[in-house]
Amino acid sequence: MTRRRTKIVATLGPASSSPEKIEQLILAGMDVARLNFSHGEAEDHRQRVQLVRSLAEKHGRYVAIMGDLQGPKIRIARFRNTRVTLAAGQPFTLSNQHPAEEGDETIVGIDYPSLVQDCHPGDELLLDDGRVVLVVENVDEYAVHTIVTVGGPLSNNKGINRRGGGISAPSLTDKDREDIKLAAELDMDYVAVSFPRYGRDIEEARKLVEEAGSQAWIIAKIERAEAVADDRALDAIIMVSDGVMVARGDLGVEVGDARLVGIQKRIIQHARTHNKLVITATQMMESMIGSPLPTRAEVSDVANAVLDYTDAVMLSAESASGQYPVEAVTAMARVCLGAEQEPTTTRSQHRLGETFTRCDETIALATMYAANHFPGVKAIISLTESGHTPLIMSRIRSGVPIYCYTRHAGTQRRAALFRGVYTVAFDAADLDPALVSDAAIEKLKEQSLLQEGDWIILTKGDFFSNSGGTNGMKILKVN
Ligand code: PGA
Ligand code: MN
Repeated sequence: MTRRRTKIVATLGPASSSPEKIEQLILAGMDVARLNFSHGEAEDHRQRVQLVRSLAEKHGRYVAIMGDLQGPKIRIARFRNTRVTLAAGQPFTLSNQHPAEEGDETIVGIDYPSLVQDCHPGDELLLDDGRVVLVVENVDEYAVHTIVTVGGPLSNNKGINRRGGGISAPSLTDKDREDIKLAAELDMDYVAVSFPRYGRDIEEARKLVEEAGSQAWIIAKIERAEAVADDRALDAIIMVSDGVMVARGDLGVEVGDARLVGIQKRIIQHARTHNKLVITATQMMESMIGSPLPTRAEVSDVANAVLDYTDAVMLSAESASGQYPVEAVTAMARVCLGAEQEPTTTRSQHRLGETFTRCDETIALATMYAANHFPGVKAIISLTESGHTPLIMSRIRSGVPIYCYTRHAGTQRRAALFRGVYTVAFDAADLDPALVSDAAIEKLKEQSLLQEGDWIILTKGDFFSNSGGTNGMKILKVN
C-alpha cells in the first residue's frame, strides 16, 4: 500500500462541526484541522478541538490543530439591506464616520481610521478578494472617495486590500492576543499569523504564544506584497517562523493573480531550503463548495503544488461552509496520491552543493541521501523529542516513509503536517538501550509495514531525552 505523503489541512466551520462530519473528515484524510479565528466564538472552537482530539484518538490517528489568527484584515462595515450592487463608473465612498449599520449604494463605514492616511489618489482598492475594484479619486480627513472600476454585488463586512500592499496596520490586534490565549488553553499545535510584514511580527507572536504557556509552532501566512517584495524580505519572515502558508487569497489580491503562481513556487522552495514547513492554501477546490467533483483546473492546481513539494494543501470554504466537505478531502487525497506517483517527486537534487550547519541536520540529510540511493531501504525511523529531525528529513524528496517515533503527544500531532512523515508512539527512555532498535522495528512489523529482508535506517541521540541531540544513524536489516 502506498501511503499519501502530502498532508491535508481542512478548515472546520458550520458545514463541518458535527461529530459525524468531523469523524468523516478524519477518515477521509484530514491531517490538520484549521480553526479560523475570523469566524465563530471561543465556545465553537473549544468544542471542535475536543471533537477532533477524541475522534482522532478513537481511530488511532494523529490530527494536528491549527488556530488561524484573524489579523488586521481591514473590512467595510455593514449595509442597511445586507448587500448592494455597485456599477462600474459610479462614485463610492468609504468613511470612518458613517454609521456602521447604514451603508448604501453610495457610501459605507470602515472600522480602520488610518485607511485615509494609507490611501492616495490613483490607488486601487480591492474588495471581497478582488471581486469589486475601486480607484481612489481623493481623500479627506474622514473618508476615501473612489470610482468603481469593477462592479458587482458587495455585502456586509467584506475585506479591503490595496493593490501593491502598503496598508500600515500592525500585524497583531487585541483580538489576536485574546485568541492566542485561547490557542494556549486548548493546547493547539500550530498558530498561524495573518498579514505579517516583517520577521519582527512573527517574533512578537512567538513571544505572546510562549507567554501564554503554549508550545505551538508558528506559521507565517505570506499574504502581503511587502513579504514577497524580494528574497531578502521573504527569507527574513521564513527564518523566524516554523513554517509558512502561501495564502493565495489575500496575496493574489495584493500582487495580482498573474504573479501568484511564480511566487508560490518561490515560497515553497525557500521554505524547504530553510528547513521550514509550507502549506499551499485557498481556492484549491473552490468549485467543490457547490459541486461534488473538482474541475480539471483545480485538480491541476493541487497536483502542481504536490509536484512542487509542498507539505500540505489546504481547504477553506470547501470544508468549512461548502456542501461537500468530505468529498473535497477525499478528492484532494486522491489527487495528491496520483501526483505523488510521478518519479520527480521522489528524486532529490536538494543541497548537493551545500554545507550543513548542525549535527542533527547533517544526520538527517545523510539519512535521506542513503535512503534514496540504497534500494532495499523501506523505512526511516527517527527517534525524536521535538520532531526536528524528521522535519529536516522531510525537506528532501523521497519515496521512503519517515516514521517519527516519539513519546510526546504534542510532537505526535505536530508531525501530522510534515510531508511523508507518520507518527508512532514510542518511549525509548524506558528501554534498555541495547533493545531499542529491535523494539522500534517490531512496531512497524506489527503493522505489516516491514517484512523480513527489508532494510531500515534508524536515527537517534545518545541521550533519548535531549531535543536536537540526534547524532547517530544506523542501517539495519529486518529479520
Ligand atoms: P484567510 O487566509 O483565509 O484567513 O484569508 C488565507 C488566504 O488569504 O489565502
Ligand atoms: Mn488571508
